[in-house]
Amino acid sequence: MEKGKIKVTAEDIFPVIKTFLYSDQEIFLRELVSNATDAILKLKTLISLGKFYKKIDDLIIEIIIDKPNKILKIRDNGIGMTKKEVEKYINQIAFSGAEDFLKKYKDKKIKEIIGNFGLGFYSSFMVSEKVEIISKSYKDYEKAIHWICDGSTNFSIKTIEKQNSGTEIILHIKNNSKEFLEEKRIKTLLSKYCKFMPIPIFLGESEEGKNKNKIINNPFPVWKKNPINLKKEDYINFYKELYSLKMEDPLFWIHINIDHPFKLTGVLFFPKIKNQIELQKDKIHLYQNQVYVTDNLEGIVPDFLNLLKGVIDSPEIPLNVSRSDLQYDSSVKQIEGYITRKVAAQLEKLCKTNREDFENKWEEIKIIIEYGMISDHKFYLKAKKFALYPDINNKYYLLEEYLEKIKLKNKFKDDKIIVFYTSNLESQNSYIETIKNKGYKILLLDSPIVGHLIQKIEIDYKNLNFYRVDSDQIDKLLKNDNVNVNVNEQEKNELKNELKNSLIKHLDTEKFLIKIKDLDQFSLPFMITIPEFIRRMKEISLTGNPMLNLTNFNDKYNIIVNKNHKLIKKILNEKNLKKKQNLIKESLNLVMLSHNLLKGKQLTDFISKSYENLLKKD
Ligand code: ADP
Ligand code: MG
Repeated sequence: MEKGKIKVTAEDIFPVIKTFLYSDQEIFLRELVSNATDAILKLKTLISLGKFYKKIDDLIIEIIIDKPNKILKIRDNGIGMTKKEVEKYINQIAFSGAEDFLKKYKDKKIKEIIGNFGLGFYSSFMVSEKVEIISKSYKDYEKAIHWICDGSTNFSIKTIEKQNSGTEIILHIKNNSKEFLEEKRIKTLLSKYCKFMPIPIFLGESEEGKNKNKIINNPFPVWKKNPINLKKEDYINFYKELYSLKMEDPLFWIHINIDHPFKLTGVLFFPKIKNQIELQKDKIHLYQNQVYVTDNLEGIVPDFLNLLKGVIDSPEIPLNVSRSDLQYDSSVKQIEGYITRKVAAQLEKLCKTNREDFENKWEEIKIIIEYGMISDHKFYLKAKKFALYPDINNKYYLLEEYLEKIKLKNKFKDDKIIVFYTSNLESQNSYIETIKNKGYKILLLDSPIVGHLIQKIEIDYKNLNFYRVDSDQIDKLLKNDNVNVNVNEQEKNELKNELKNSLIKHLDTEKFLIKIKDLDQFSLPFMITIPEFIRRMKEISLTGNPMLNLTNFNDKYNIIVNKNHKLIKKILNEKNLKKKQNLIKESLNLVMLSHNLLKGKQLTDFISKSYENLLKKD
């Protein structure tokens, strides 16, 4: 038996201690299973190079819980370690066998190994008071070794008898980490970190080649396969395997597979979104060579793509650096740009090749795409080829297609093209009818962020203006073409004053501006419109733009009075003052009611008055 000291310098140990303090203890299992995976991947490389013989199918990892003895074992039948290797790679923290192996075989095409991204072997001391390693190298002439360390810098190492190559890590679990002796807890952890690791993992002991049904992972996940060999069901099943069997089928997916300029594979799913909570819940998982790393992808994929689901796997992402460094990392920036381009290209393809299907899915994906358009200018430009705009008759257009359709009719002064839209078919019905009757087309844009979107489009298309159907611009449309002078200036002022007087009694006149307009006789006698700009700014500030201060945007309404309507004439001609005031009051009540502005006592009074009127009718 030999004794010695583990060589660590403050420099070596510092990152270990730091991570120890800040990260979850549970990652020790990920680290040890990753090392076991590497050991097997290395042996596979040697097998494929003809340097060793073993049946590939027999290469496995076992996780064994021995609760009475407070032991957790991680066993592999991989490459193993010689005494020299233990001395170099285990006893000296600064050396990595993963790195050396890759260097040695760098001309050979070897499968990616995991090493060198996490905390490594020493994370086992986060949960153990003592750790043993029993290992036998694949090299016949090397003796097996037994290494023991109690977590101090002292260790012992001796040679022992062991037949087959491989390594067993024996953790003597600390009293305050007993949770890691519970099968349920270990199962959960394996399913979180090791679900798609590339080597079969057994929970419990297995006889070689048998008990295949006890494999707890899927070593061949779809993102690692060639899309040509995959069917629709393969993707859907994987989606459910990744999250939960209860998930509704995804709408479609994008299989990413790239070698240059960086390695990246993955599958991104467009989910069926039923509510906000679901959007937040299951996120994209980031893997490094099939080892789960995190589902916090801030800074790695753009925010809007974080609403998608699925997996991204890349050996390139520097995982040992902090999150804020990650955001400035140039390879991460490249990855972000690439994923965005790939998603845009796929959406364009879907829209082009099966427009009908794409239209059917639009309502469920629009929030993600619209969010992308307002937050990422490059994506916005690409989205011109697939962002759809439905009209109120359920017909879908690309913006360019729609503009082509309306450009003659909707051209107004200064060559401005006006796009009318509604955000709610029900509550804006009277306005929709009015504009429709004038022969104009109307879009239905009802997502909560549409204010941001049209703002962006208007900046892009200088000659374009969006107006909601109840905006302050629409009275211009309803202008009476035949000059019709049956209300003179004096009467106009008189009417204005009386309306004002009536308003003062009930309402906050600051909010309302009365405008007497020369509209055609078929338009309503009274209408309320909202200044488009103010309303839009308010919408934008409501959906979170800290640049805008909501308090600057009080509600403002225009009361449009159509002086050509019969009712207005009737009011003006009414000689009985009391009756006249009543007509005005009731008219105002009606227009307020139709805009959902009649509230509280006024509403109650109006309703009881209306019932009384019903009684009077007989
Ligand atoms: P890394 O995996 O980044 O190299 P670790 O601290 O996890 O760092 O492991 C250090 C080294 O110990 C590995 O590179 C490898 O050479 C060796 N090692 C650890 N576990 C095993 C194992 N199960 N089988 C063979 N070698 C191992
Ligand atoms: Mg490791």
